[in-house]
This record gives sequence, C-alpha cells and structure tokens, in this order.
Amino acid sequence: MFRICSFFLLIATLGAAPADWIWSARWVITENPARRVIENGAVAIAGDRIVGVGTRAEIDAQFQARQRLDRPQAILAPGLIDTHTHAAMSLFRGIADDLRLQDWLEKYIFPAEAKNVSPDFVRWGTRLGCLEMLLGGTTTFTDMYYFEDVVAETAKEAGMRGVLGETIIGFPVADNKTPADALAYTERYLTRFRNDPLVVAAVAPHALYTNSDETLKASRALADKYHAPLLIHLSETKKENDDTLAARHMTPTKVLDTLGVFGGRTVAAHCVWVDEADMAILKARGVGVAHCPSSNMKLASGAAPVARMLAMGIHVGLGPDGPAGSNNDFNLFEEMDLAAKLQKLVTMDPRALPAASALEMATMGGARVLGMEREIGSLETGKRADLILVRLDRPNAVPLYDAVSQMVYALKADDVRDVMVNGKPVVSDGRILTLDEGAVLAKAEEYRGKIAASLK
Ligand SMILES: [Zn+2]
Repeated sequence: MFRICSFFLLIATLGAAPADWIWSARWVITENPARRVIENGAVAIAGDRIVGVGTRAEIDAQFQARQRLDRPQAILAPGLIDTHTHAAMSLFRGIADDLRLQDWLEKYIFPAEAKNVSPDFVRWGTRLGCLEMLLGGTTTFTDMYYFEDVVAETAKEAGMRGVLGETIIGFPVADNKTPADALAYTERYLTRFRNDPLVVAAVAPHALYTNSDETLKASRALADKYHAPLLIHLSETKKENDDTLAARHMTPTKVLDTLGVFGGRTVAAHCVWVDEADMAILKARGVGVAHCPSSNMKLASGAAPVARMLAMGIHVGLGPDGPAGSNNDFNLFEEMDLAAKLQKLVTMDPRALPAASALEMATMGGARVLGMEREIGSLETGKRADLILVRLDRPNAVPLYDAVSQMVYALKADDVRDVMVNGKPVVSDGRILTLDEGAVLAKAEEYRGKIAASLK
C-alpha cells in the first residue's frame, strides 16, 4: 500500500508544473469575473505572473513550488490599487489641518513646497509614502508630483508598481519654472521609463484652474505621442465649478472635453461636483474617476456621486489623495470603508454602495481606471503577481462570516502581514524587505525640523 501511494505521489510530483511560490490562506478573494471567494485556497506564482488559482489541494497537486507561504488564519487578496495620491507630500503630514482647499493650498502647501521641494525631499518623501503604502497592502500607486523621475526611481527601489505623473502647472515650481519647461521635462521622463516593468510614466497637468488651455492641449498631445495616461484633478470643489461656469459658461468637465483633453486614457481625481451631463461625458470618453472620500470629507469639498457613476458604468477607483492635510495617511482600507459609508450617508440608502463594490473599487475598478485591467486588480492566471495576505487572528477580525465584508468594514491596513509585487515579496510578516525603515523614519524627523524652520 505504502509503495503504491509513493508511486502515485511520485507521478503527481513529476507531473507538477514548476512555480517559484505558492501562497495559501483560509480565504482567497479572487475578484475574478465570477467574484469567486475560495475557502482554503492558494495561488501559484512563477516569475512575475500568477500561474494558478484554486483550492489549496488543487494548487498543491498542480504545482511544485520552490518556496511557499501558508497562512491558515489570513485572507489572500489582490494588492490594493491607489488611483490618486501625492506620495512625497508625506513629509508635510499634518502641516495644516482643518482648512478649506484653497486656503490650505495657497497659504500653506504652495509656500511650503516653494521653500522645501527638491530631488532629495521627493526621494525621502516617496520612500516614506511607499513604506506606509506597502505595509498597508497598497501594491500600485498613482502619483502626481514634482521631480517625478525621482518618484519613479524610488518606486522601483521599494519594489512598488506606480502610474506616476510629472506635474505641469501654470506657475514656477521646484522642478520647472514654466509649463514649456515642464512639458520638456515630462517628455524626457516619459522616454526614460518607457516599457518599465513597474513604472507607467504619465503626464499630469495639475488642474483646469492652474493651467492655460494651450498647456492642457499640449499635455494631451504629449500623452498621445507616448501612449501615456494623463492624470488631472477635476471638479474637486464647488468654487472650481462656480468660477469656471462664471468665466466660461461651461462646467470644468465640459471645458476639458471641448479642449480634447479626454481624447485618450485619462484619470480624473475627485469629480465631486460633476452633473449628469458631465458624467455622460466621462462615460462616453472612458475617463476613469479617482474617488478620494477621506480628502473630500476632510476638506469639506463634498460627496462625489459615486453610486450614480457606478450605475452609469463609469470606471471608479479609490485614492487617499495627499497626506499633508487633505487626508494625512495612505490607507486604502480606510478609503474602502469611507467610500461605502459616504454613499450610504448622502443617499440615505444602506444599499447605495455595498462592501463588494468598495472592494472592487480598490482592486479591479482601480485597474480599469488605469487601463491596466488585463495586468492587475484580480487573482487570475496570467496576471501580474501582486498579492496581499491580511491576518485574521486579531480581535477586530473574528468571527468571520463574509470575507469581502470583513475586508471593507473590519480589517485595517495594519492587519496586512505579507505583500508581493510583480512576483517579489516586499513585506514579510509585517516587515518591509526593500527599504531601510529606520533611515526613512529618521529622515522624516530631520525634514520636519527643516520644514518647520522654513515657514517661520
Ligand atoms: Zn490630489
């Protein structure tokens, strides 16, 4: 009997396909088209790709892995996708809270940036941002800032995926003094990071209200030339809409559409004050919306009509926005929870945005916003291996009746235990593997002193 069993085991092993890793967990949330959740599931990884998803028994029979990680008290889920942030602004965390957007920007952020932003600032700020994001289960971030080539270098150093846009803005800033300089800088940056396995270089005109029509059109042309995404802030505040309506008799969405800005892949952050006609434009042009509930609530900007957008078939993802006062952290678990609750509050309907929709926004929805739905956003064979393991052995995690609901309403970023990006483990048992955490925290404190002194 023993010999027969050994024989079959040998045959099974010989027939097994090689894999680099098998990760298994009590629950696997796949976010595949059927939204399958697998009890006692596993994922096999070879190189930078997922090569198998199934029950642990199925995966163990099909694959022979060089290494494995079994977490019988965890959820295995797709890495979370951030569709709008400003990572380096982590060094301004909490610099000015409880203000309206215009006051916050004009009285605090723009002056602080003018005095402090440099390549070194961006490198350490992005390290701090990537550290917090990876430890909290974010595997892809979408960024708009200055010296974006330095952000890209840092994302690669951290082993994190990024859609990273160089900012183009209509006044002198740290890296460029004119929009023409910024466009030239952006073109060099797009060329340098073409076909990178982790970085998608993007063009990021800051907003309609901070750029001329000519600069916006030139930004679109540059994005088209390199097949790059265009990232922009849109209809974040009532003031932005009122000013545009008064000056141009059109909404900001209508103006951008008229200028042709939506003529290619576009990610529009916020879209709080869009009306039905605006949403019809966003849908028709395939514009992805980055919903930032924490930021919109903290700056009292308003509540984006996200339930309506989803009903219309507009792609919507989530973003923490800036950590400097419009949110103060990079926490997609918090954004999922708040996105669901904010829609319930404003519609007075608890069904307005269910947990499954909130999780989808942080995974497949975000992937669609970025035009990367064939590569990331779900645990499916052939996709990039971006995975997170979230622990279920803490008081806030038990008991568990529904893994998806638990992810959105009960689990926290701090519960993330292991993270893999592009087939490489970057967080192991809650510890970052790619960055020097002590050095990053010490540098943040050093910068706090410099920044505080610069504002006196
Ligand atoms: Zn923003």
